[in-house]
Amino acid sequence: MTTSPPARLRVVVWNENVHERSRPEVARIYPEGLHRCIAAALTEAGLADVSTATLDEPEHGLAAERLDATDVLVWWGHAAHDRVNDAVVDRVQRRVLEGMGFVALHSAHESKPFRRLLGTPCTLRWREDGAAERVWVVQPGHPLAEGVGDGFWIDQEEMYGEPFAIPEPDELVFISWFAGGEVFRSGCCWRRGGGRIVYFRPGHETFATYRQPEVRRVVANAVRYAAPRTTPLVDRGSEWVAPAVEARRERG
Ligand code: ZN
Repeated sequence: MTTSPPARLRVVVWNENVHERSRPEVARIYPEGLHRCIAAALTEAGLADVSTATLDEPEHGLAAERLDATDVLVWWGHAAHDRVNDAVVDRVQRRVLEGMGFVALHSAHESKPFRRLLGTPCTLRWREDGAAERVWVVQPGHPLAEGVGDGFWIDQEEMYGEPFAIPEPDELVFISWFAGGEVFRSGCCWRRGGGRIVYFRPGHETFATYRQPEVRRVVANAVRYAAPRTTPLVDRGSEWVAPAVEARRERG
């Protein structure tokens, strides 16, 4: 069953919040933490219910009650993927299957929830050289690309290159080109159960990428795109069903 997304999206921006506190060059760029910078971009884009969660909070800030009340979860992680508790990963996966959106940013390609949801290693080539990146829109008119024309430049970024060990995306929206000649699938969408998953590549911690208007716009687009559009599915052991289906069955 497809419905409109909820009018007031409840968004949680999750960040491991490690580099900002351990590396001065990152703290200089993101003194408030990547999570607060990204959350501010979403608020500026008109999303009214945006909060943050970090690794060090109890249950990484993602207790069951909070996830149950989350429509879209945004994830930034890099140095501490292995410190994320598997019980929290189980919970995130379950909520995505129920209908919650999941937006994985940059090095979240190797995060536990992203790999769990996609089922592949999600590895890639990389080079941290701070050269330019050109992000091309390859699906004009897709909601993820709204407001960025045919693409944009990022003056300084880390290179990510193919092969990117992901399942074939349901929708491919951005491809990046790098000064070394590499290309990379930078904006990908999948569906898993009732939920939408978006991967958006830019966002290395030593560059001011999340201060750039086009990047902020795409992250906000991704959140809106990933919003739940189905009646939440319910796990009934042998199958996932929509409550309406279950009610019909109970009536006989
Ligand atoms: Zn990086």
